[in-house]
Amino acid sequence: MSSVRKPMRIRLAAAVALAVAVPLSVVACGGGGGSDDGKIVIGTKFDQPGLGLKNPDGTMSGFDVDVATYVAKELGFAPDKIEWKESPSAQRETLIQNDQVKFIAATYSINDKRREKVDFAGPYFTAHQDLLVRADDATITKAEDLNNKKLCSVTGSTSAQNVKEKLAPKASVLELDGYSECVVALQDGLVDAMTTDNAILAGYAAQKGNTGKFRLVGLSLSSESYGIGIKKGNQDLHAKINAALKKMVQDGSWDAAVKKNFGQANFKHEPAPQVTSASS
Ligand code: GLU
Repeated sequence: MSSVRKPMRIRLAAAVALAVAVPLSVVACGGGGGSDDGKIVIGTKFDQPGLGLKNPDGTMSGFDVDVATYVAKELGFAPDKIEWKESPSAQRETLIQNDQVKFIAATYSINDKRREKVDFAGPYFTAHQDLLVRADDATITKAEDLNNKKLCSVTGSTSAQNVKEKLAPKASVLELDGYSECVVALQDGLVDAMTTDNAILAGYAAQKGNTGKFRLVGLSLSSESYGIGIKKGNQDLHAKINAALKKMVQDGSWDAAVKKNFGQANFKHEPAPQVTSASS
């Protein structure tokens, strides 16, 4: 139990620090995740290997980080001008609405409910909801097997909502703040499975220290189109980010980023989706 409590406590401390830091950062960058000091503030996950990860040495890595870095460069910001802001699933809309970030690239699925609050450039990636179980557990092979089992997912995610509403309404769902906390709960036997996008789950399964511990079930329980979240109504930024994403696919950088970050076995990524026009 203690190994679960610890990261949650750290997250709580981080949330308090964030709340205190907000007014300062808004002043420092003049709002808009903005660029008065020549910097751009970009939101991503900090705990998702292969997608958005803050490494022990402070550097950032992952596919979302590479996409965001490319987009930033196209917007005129070199990598050393990027300030990364941790953006947990449940906080993404608020971070955008409050101008705490310029944009968010954080396994952020485009959907109508979120579109009421923010706009999405892209899409730039397609994932599918899947399950991660302990390697020695052969009892879970499909979504219905989750009924009457314990399942972990993340507050504010489409994954948690899908399970409760459609996939396994009788599962007991433990909702935590981040997927890395679910991995600990799964490993410790507090839950029988965790669920979110296959790309995220594959990253944990392949993480150093985790190899051989978990099994990606290999289901396609939903289609998740990742978009770049921006402030509602910012047509100019929307068009610029779409142009950057198209260029990233055309010049081969998208493929290179996919190869670099999703090299692990057991996960077949989809081809690059078509970027839609800014007005749609
Ligand atoms: N892509 C899904 C979502 O946006 C699940 C992953 C996440 O929570 O970031 O909710």
